[in-house]
Amino acid sequence: MPLSTDVNLPRTHLAKYPERCVSCGADPQGKTIRIWTHTIGWWTFLLWAFGKGFTTQPPVCGDCVLRFRAQRWGRSLVPLLVALLVLVLIWPLLERNPFLEFRKWIIMCSILLCSAPYFLWEVIFPPAIDITAFNDRVDYEFADENYAYDFAELNEEAEWVEIS
Ligand SMILES: [Zn+2]
Repeated sequence: MPLSTDVNLPRTHLAKYPERCVSCGADPQGKTIRIWTHTIGWWTFLLWAFGKGFTTQPPVCGDCVLRFRAQRWGRSLVPLLVALLVLVLIWPLLERNPFLEFRKWIIMCSILLCSAPYFLWEVIFPPAIDITAFNDRVDYEFADENYAYDFAELNEEAEWVEIS
């Protein structure tokens, strides 16, 4: 079972979406949500702050919009909070000499371990839509396979992304 169904479009192409909520399939009544991502490339880390963002506006109904926003905020904030908690709670415990040398590694491993359940959750319950922007192409990742098919039909330049 694929975790998400991905459709690839040229970056310059303005994506057309089926007239239904990307999350639950209800009538969106003209409502959309703006989702934003960084451009990914070898320069991403060099130009993180200046990275050209890419936005798209899928339709989302009034009922789903809050949940959708919360999920997206959670995805960026939860790992940060976990990292902060680990630093505050574990760092002082490692003040003693035998640990000092490995302190950075212990912290890094703790953060990874504490974040693991969260990322597992993300994989099992993927967001209704996510985008990954490359230099000249954009991947549109849909949790709902049927929505992805309808989306690809609406956008003539669409190419399917191999699911590995
Ligand atoms: Zn909805």
